[in-house]
Amino acid sequence: MFLMSLTLPEVLALDGKCSDKIQIEVDRAKQARSIGERHGLADGPALFVRDAVAEAQEAGRLIHRRLAVNRCAYTGRTAEWIQPPQGRARYPKEQFQRPFTAVEVAQRFVVVAKHASIGIDADVFPHVLPALRAELKDVRAEIPEAILGAPSPWHYSARVKARCCGWTGAEALTRVRREPCWFGLTCPGCGEKHRSDRTGFVLVSGEHEVIPTSSLVSPLEGRSDLLDSLECS
Ligand SMILES: [Zn+2]
Repeated sequence: MFLMSLTLPEVLALDGKCSDKIQIEVDRAKQARSIGERHGLADGPALFVRDAVAEAQEAGRLIHRRLAVNRCAYTGRTAEWIQPPQGRARYPKEQFQRPFTAVEVAQRFVVVAKHASIGIDADVFPHVLPALRAELKDVRAEIPEAILGAPSPWHYSARVKARCCGWTGAEALTRVRREPCWFGLTCPGCGEKHRSDRTGFVLVSGEHEVIPTSSLVSPLEGRSDLLDSLECS
C-alpha cells in the first residue's frame, strides 16, 4: 500500500513490530549496523558491505567491475546535470547527466544501463575495502584479488550431473587432467571419459559449487618429466 524509502534507523525501529517480509529488511539493517559499528562505517557504506557479503554467501562469488552509473544507492550520490545543448532540450532528461564511476561486485545476467546491481561510488570504495575484506575473510566464495588482496582460495563452478553414474558436483572437477594424453572430460564419480560436456554432463541449472582451488591442481601438474616421456597420439 505504501512504497517509501526509509533510513537505516527508521528500519531498525520496526524490529519485531512488522510482517515477516519487512523483518527481512530489518535483519538486513541490523547486520549493516553491526558491521558499521565494527569498522566505523556510516550506514550507507555499512549496508553495502553487508549486501556484498550476503551476495558472496548466496552466489558463491563476487566480481570487481567499474561501470558508469547515474546513482549510487548506498551513498545517495547522483550524477550531475549538464546543460542540454541548444535545440536538444526536448530529449529525455537522463541524456544530460554526467555519469560517475561505481565499483560493482555482484554478477548479474540482466544488466540495467548505468545502474549497478550491488555497487558503490568508486570514490568511496577504497574506504569500505578494509571492512569488506575483513568480513569476507571466512566466506566460502570466489572473490577477485582486487577485493581480497590475495588470490581466492575458492573457485566458483557450475554444478553438473554426470550421465554415466549420476555423480553431481563442480563442473571444474571434470576438467582436471588425471592422465597424460587425455584432454577430454573425466567423470570424478566413476572415471568414465567423455569427449565433451554434451555427451558427458548435464548442467544443474541455477545451482553452483564452491570448491577449494587446490582441488583443481592436476596430479600431473609439475610432472613434465612424465609428460615428456609419453607420446600422445
Ligand atoms: Zn560417472
